[in-house]
Amino acid sequence: MSTSVAVEIGSVYWALDGGIHHASCGQRMVLRARHPDELVFACVACSESVAVPVSVLSRIPVAT
Ligand SMILES: [Zn+2]
Repeated sequence: MSTSVAVEIGSVYWALDGGIHHASCGQRMVLRARHPDELVFACVACSESVAVPVSVLSRIPVAT
């Protein structure tokens, strides 16, 4: 069983600096693992991991 939290649109967003940010705490996330069909990001602030399917990447909202 994976400990990652399946991404829901809105749980992460692209910031203007080009990085993925964690919507619940607003901190930058770092790429922790790269799989053929998903990327796993870890939040630097709360250590939560979010698995983002590649198919969802283009639908992640961009912060304005
Ligand atoms: Zn966080």
